[in-house]
Amino acid sequence: MEFGWTSEQKTLFDSIERFARKSLGQELIERDRAAEFDLAGWRECGKFGIQGLPVPEDYGGLGLDAVTTVGALERLGYACADNGLVFSLNAHLWTAAMPLVAFGTEEQKQRYLPGLCSGELIGGNAMSEPDTGSDSYALRTSATRQGDRYVLNGSKIWVTNGPVADLLVVFATVDRAQGARGITAFLVDKHTPGMTVGRKLDKMGLRTSPMAELFFENCEVPEQNRLGREGAGTSLFTHSMSWERGCILASAVGSMQRLLETCVQHARQRKQFGQSIGKFQSVANKVVDMKLRLETARQLLYHGAWLRSLGKSALMEASMAKLYLSESWVQTCLDALQLHGAAGYMTEFQIERELRDALASRIYSGTNEIQRTLIASLLGL
Ligand SMILES: Cc1cc2nc3c(=O)[nH]c(=O)nc-3n(C[C@H](O)[C@H](O)[C@H](O)COP(=O)(O)OP(=O)(O)OC[C@H]3O[C@@H](n4cnc5c(N)ncnc54)[C@H](O)[C@@H]3O)c2cc1C
Repeated sequence: MEFGWTSEQKTLFDSIERFARKSLGQELIERDRAAEFDLAGWRECGKFGIQGLPVPEDYGGLGLDAVTTVGALERLGYACADNGLVFSLNAHLWTAAMPLVAFGTEEQKQRYLPGLCSGELIGGNAMSEPDTGSDSYALRTSATRQGDRYVLNGSKIWVTNGPVADLLVVFATVDRAQGARGITAFLVDKHTPGMTVGRKLDKMGLRTSPMAELFFENCEVPEQNRLGREGAGTSLFTHSMSWERGCILASAVGSMQRLLETCVQHARQRKQFGQSIGKFQSVANKVVDMKLRLETARQLLYHGAWLRSLGKSALMEASMAKLYLSESWVQTCLDALQLHGAAGYMTEFQIERELRDALASRIYSGTNEIQRTLIASLLGL
């Protein structure tokens, strides 16, 4: 087994760190409070190439393999404390750009991918509905074929990037009676008549990542905007969820590294009872557990990405990574907060925001209860 990075990979990761420190995460406390998306930062990420990390070079991406991509996102998460911006970038990558790479026609790829990679276009994905979350294939949003177009009716909720997205991958059913086999994906441009973006949803964490509801009322989508075959929406969704679950928390590994370093420094400097608090075993144990979780999370992340680089679907590994990394991130945030005492609870120390951001990771991309169900079924239970 080879665990080292090449010098090209190291150079890339170092340049991502320099870029993120210089161009991202400014005035984060204020932007988090105001729930403000960093559009300028998004555009800078596009110029750097973040939105196209794993997208083939022919379409404007950097064409990186999965292992290098997760390494790059890990470093981005380490150097950019704006987890909301990083989350928006992930949603864009895994649920808009990569499904297009895998399922788009040549014409669709040429039309959208260069803009999605350059940061000019923002992508998002609309699967969840008010009545269907975990039971995602029980969709109500319908797509009725009329000649060379489909007419969409229904509504979507919890759409990350919804308020700012130029392109949405929308899932609808062409026949509810067919269940999962009726689900079909569509590329819907912003301003398509009949599609309305609802109010921006205010949330506990990831506040700099905008979210909205979408409404479809006789929204006509031309046939050439169907993504994949009619009825292929389920396999498309499974494919993008496998990528997403395997990679979306790479940046959380970076965040855990950042928190570990902050905690080591604090535990060494903060003195109580005449000595550094790090000398108290119950404090040191928290830091040790952070390190252990970080390294275990990293191995799971890299292993899944390595399988993906070999062309394997790595479904089990993706679910395990999503489950373990999210729980680890939350626990690391909780421990970091406790270790900082009252300061940890205060906004200015920026740990309470990390905790609020991390909590969402147990819910998005399929809740952790659903990941356990998937792993159990893959184990044959
Ligand atoms: C920050 C964030 C961003 C998101 N972005 C998007 C997006 O861009 N696009 C999009 O389409 N959706 C998005 N979502 C929605 C997300 O995919 C759903 O929240 C998720 O699938 C769960 O659905 P739900 O919220 O309806 O919960 P429910 O399905 O109602 O679940 C409620 C509880 O019941 C449990 N439960 C449900 N069914 C089972 C079962 N069979 N076995 C065991 N437990 C079960 C769940 O685990 C959960 O604890 C986002 C969510 C969040 C928090």
